[in-house]
Amino acid sequence: MRIARVSVPGVEFPVYGVITGDKIELITGLPWPDMSDPVAALNLADVKILAPVIPSKIVCVGKNYADHAKEMGGDVPTEPVIFLKPNTTVIGDGDFIVLPPQSTNVHHEAELAIIIGALAKNVEVDRADEVIFGYTCANDVTARDLQNSDLQWTRSKSFDTFCPLGPWIETELDPENLDISCQVNGTTKQDGNTSDLVRSAREMVSWISHMMTLLPGDVILTGTPAGVSQLVSGDTVTVTIEDIGTLTNSVLVR
Ligand code: MG
Repeated sequence: MRIARVSVPGVEFPVYGVITGDKIELITGLPWPDMSDPVAALNLADVKILAPVIPSKIVCVGKNYADHAKEMGGDVPTEPVIFLKPNTTVIGDGDFIVLPPQSTNVHHEAELAIIIGALAKNVEVDRADEVIFGYTCANDVTARDLQNSDLQWTRSKSFDTFCPLGPWIETELDPENLDISCQVNGTTKQDGNTSDLVRSAREMVSWISHMMTLLPGDVILTGTPAGVSQLVSGDTVTVTIEDIGTLTNSVLVR
């Protein structure tokens, strides 16, 4: 199922719905733990698709593709490296990535995002699917110069608009073998496959849940393949993941 969070004309709050073709069947409340029956159907063209979730936290895995670890000048770490992005970084499909004045070198990072659907604590790998609601496309936008100059990565990863997510959540997906790519102005910059993840999506859900409790709606970014490059004002960046869709954002300086 393809589940989107949308803005409906005349409705003050975001609404979830199931996309079928060019229609969206709206539901009441959140799609987890149990989804309501549809209460209305609209043309997809008549709603605005929003970021599929505003999570309590975004947990990100660093250097989880060997080719990207290499291009960053290192090896795959012996233990996973993780960091957090605040939920205020989240934007949706079609929203603008805003380049901050503190950086002169902002990069795209195409990533498979996991959406958690149930409280997850000490979840073993073979039960990870029980707490995974679905998957979406993400762009772990990064101020590379600040990442290199700061001891911690928080500043470089946390500017407003630095976490495009979307366009929707795909709930029926095997994350183990999906093509993932990133285009800037139509030119392919990243071209990978999730089969090259050092630690799989399910392994990372388990590993993280043994440290911190994951809540419904939380997001895990699984890492980016090689080919990261600079974004400048006026660029259009797309992240495409097989069987999910394409997340498109333009870049501007405010
Ligand atoms: Mg990343």
